[in-house]
Amino acid sequence: MDHVFVIGLGSNLGVREHNLSAAVEAVARLALPLAVRLEALSCVYESAAIGPPQPAYLNAALRLSACCTPEALLEALHAIEAAHGRTREVHWGPRSLDLDILWASEGRQTEQLTIPHAQLLLRTFALAPLLDVAPELAVHYAPVLERLGGPPPVRGTLRYDPTSGSCELAASAQCG
Ligand code: ADP
Ligand code: MG
Repeated sequence: MDHVFVIGLGSNLGVREHNLSAAVEAVARLALPLAVRLEALSCVYESAAIGPPQPAYLNAALRLSACCTPEALLEALHAIEAAHGRTREVHWGPRSLDLDILWASEGRQTEQLTIPHAQLLLRTFALAPLLDVAPELAVHYAPVLERLGGPPPVRGTLRYDPTSGSCELAASAQCG
């Protein structure tokens, strides 16, 4: 059976928009091993980092359906992070690419995985792109986003071309 997942993407090192686009392309390429289907891409938001002093983040989200467990998907996401130079030195430190499972059609609570993501209700940079790609969740999350001060500033939208398999940041603020 297919499951729906919403993946949060974040980058605050290197060419951030390139890192997000490359991550979308890599997730789309999971079509063969994990039967992933890319369904929607969010706007790209910019916000100050939390944790130690570091550059601002670009964040976005993608919605996919896949016929795999969240553990298998997380393993694939970690491989994509590693391929894009992600290292884990400082907790909440700067990173070229962070891929988290923000939400899924089935929740999870294990040592390895918490779904919905444990910090979701605290983070406008996760809630705003989540609602772009899963507007049906507005009844649960829109009031939380409003209480936190609303969405961070929009810097564009990710556009994926399935023919070429390439993704880029478009200037438009029309997302979803
Ligand atoms: P963070 O994203 O919190 O900055 P990491 O990306 O280094 O930190 O993730 C640390 C660990 O968090 C992962 O190895 C994973 O096992 C765990 N984790 C728990 N829930 C999730 C989730 N929903 N999405 C991604 N990782 C998760
Ligand atoms: Mg992470």
